[in-house]
Amino acid sequence: MQHKNFKNIDKVVYGRGSFNQLAETVEPIRKENKNYFVYVVDNYFKGKPLSNKLQNKPEDLIYYINVDPHEPTTEQIDTLRDEVLSKKGLPSGIIGIGGGSIMDIAKALSLMFTNEGSSTLYQGLNLIKKPGIYHLGVPTISGTGAEVSMTAVLTGPEKKLGLKCDWTVFNQVILDPELIASVPTDWWFYTGMDTYIHCIESHGGIRNNAFSLAYGDKALELCREVYLSEKSGQTPDNDDKLMVASLMGGLSLTYSEVGVCHALSYGLSKIHGTRHCYANCVIFQHLEDIYPKGVKEFNQMIKKHNITLPQNLHKEWDDATLTAMATVSYNLPFMWNHAFGDNYKEIATLDYIKDLFRRL
Ligand code: NAD
Ligand code: ZN
Repeated sequence: MQHKNFKNIDKVVYGRGSFNQLAETVEPIRKENKNYFVYVVDNYFKGKPLSNKLQNKPEDLIYYINVDPHEPTTEQIDTLRDEVLSKKGLPSGIIGIGGGSIMDIAKALSLMFTNEGSSTLYQGLNLIKKPGIYHLGVPTISGTGAEVSMTAVLTGPEKKLGLKCDWTVFNQVILDPELIASVPTDWWFYTGMDTYIHCIESHGGIRNNAFSLAYGDKALELCREVYLSEKSGQTPDNDDKLMVASLMGGLSLTYSEVGVCHALSYGLSKIHGTRHCYANCVIFQHLEDIYPKGVKEFNQMIKKHNITLPQNLHKEWDDATLTAMATVSYNLPFMWNHAFGDNYKEIATLDYIKDLFRRL
């Protein structure tokens, strides 16, 4: 058996107000390349107090990016890369401030500054040829684990697939729980549940091990405090915990694997454009036979926070649509193998996966 040899973030700073250390953290890097930084900031922060605390220098470029119309695309990355290079040449580094979408944009841009051609050429594992430039992530919504993962998920004309390699991982992450206070309740729920589901799936399969369980089970404990305990809800104490849970959930799945919910989620997102964390929630509620304890708790959390998820979506889907969704999911064998063991091919057939989608 080949054991994963994974790359962690080089440096992490955590704590309330730690965002104020951004300028001093990146100062030594300014001497690299053309001596300026590119900021990619979630458009939500345009005109908000955070936009006056970016600690940028006059030579830096700041891009406010609207992440709502769609998840990051290959075309978006290529266009931004070309624009920045033609304006000012190779930056010293890139600073991403936002949710999972911005984390992925920052990671992908870093790689595409030094790898020629379109990012579509590099969607997959270890296809990137050269290290990217310095990149720093500041998450402002917690749950996806994108701040720690070794992939930058992009939707291209043909596939939704990450640029996945050691160089994708951030050089520096700043975890400041103050920044997630303004997240709307529904996103706080969906994105936090991504972590919860990462940990349930990481635990519930053959690839779990003491390393993945140590991170994942602790992250689950934190999720329960944030979403299920008497003190649950969007409070500063809980934001402190959720930010750590997101990171640890990401580490857990890196050293194990996700499972059935994520395999289905990719199918739903690819065919219908449903956003990752929301798609996971829409699916997970129906997997009680596969993850009994996890789904029971999830449904309690849904109730506690008055979240409404759509039902009977399958009524809109004809057989061709179900086949298309199931085909995307079927082609994620690592997840099925992890969830069902070595005879997974006998269980996770295309028909079985279509039946799972019929539950939605
Ligand atoms: P997001 O980045 O898509 O943002 C969701 C919404 O929250 C947006 O409207 C955004 O403007 C808003 N927002 C962000 N921070 C806010 C704040 N502090 N206050 C108010 N509003 C705020 O959200 P996400 O769920 O973190 O990320 C989803 C993306 O992450 C998807 O594109 C998915 O593909 C990707 N993803 C990547 C990985 C990975 O390992 N690379 C893992 C899972 C998901
Ligand atoms: Zn996920």
